[in-house]
Amino acid sequence: MCGIVAYIGYRQAYPIVIKGLQRLEYRGYDSAGVALLNGELSVYKKAGKVADFTNYVSDKNLVGQVGMGHTRWATHGEPNDRNAHPHYSESKDLAIIHNGIIENYAAIKQELINSGHTFKSDTDTEVLIHLIEEIKHKTHVATEEAVRLALGEVIGAYAIVVLSKSEPNKMIAARKGSPIVVGIGKDEWFIASDATPIVEYTKNVAYLNDGEVATIDNGKLTVKTIDNETKIPFVQELELKLEAIEKGGYDHFMMKEIYEQPRSIWDSMRGRIDADKGRLRLGGISEFENKLINAKE
Ligand code: GLU
Repeated sequence: MCGIVAYIGYRQAYPIVIKGLQRLEYRGYDSAGVALLNGELSVYKKAGKVADFTNYVSDKNLVGQVGMGHTRWATHGEPNDRNAHPHYSESKDLAIIHNGIIENYAAIKQELINSGHTFKSDTDTEVLIHLIEEIKHKTHVATEEAVRLALGEVIGAYAIVVLSKSEPNKMIAARKGSPIVVGIGKDEWFIASDATPIVEYTKNVAYLNDGEVATIDNGKLTVKTIDNETKIPFVQELELKLEAIEKGGYDHFMMKEIYEQPRSIWDSMRGRIDADKGRLRLGGISEFENKLINAKE
């Protein structure tokens, strides 16, 4: 499903992020986007394949040693340019990429609209970054603290990465339900939704646990739980080669596909099943609901 790749270090981020997104393409997605920090916090995004995206940005400024990229598989809002990630906060100081769903986004969005926020997309993700900024402004805390406090208010599943224009040496990631791996190189750091984009740069990785927020700030990694408990990240060495990681520990891709079916079905239905009401919500066809109900046999 959707993919996340991010980089902070001494190299140019864009080529690493794009190569990583290409490695994650096998998961299936509907749009791609990148944010880069280079004095500005520039966001570029496009519906379609990573190749459509790279064509689209070919005349843009892609310089920057901090960047993050996302391939989206829409749950909230049509697959189009506007709903593609990354999403900016209200002031555009922050940007987010997100895998997963924020279940209580509608109530939070309404509160934020009442406080004067305006939204550019139909996604649950944009609501989360606006909430983070609202908390940051109200409580005067650092961005990672605002991320932690905001995640305490949301219900859902997520893997996120957040960048801030005013804190250009910092990258924040968090997870609940969707995986996040932090790759630790020499004076450089990688974040991804699985190890495939990272393994060619470093074998040292730390997998975040559910409910953890990781901050890389001026070359130092700290991990806290959403409940504000500091954790010592468990750094392990990846023993597998890239090909073996891509096969997910199975001898053949066919075995991987067979054994991943339950997970794939789970991921496909995530955010689309309302078990309490016994309803299935397929965003892409909701506007044709009446036509379908009234269709003649
Ligand atoms: N719920 C988010 C959206 O619809 C993220 C989807 C994803 O996991 O790519 O934009």
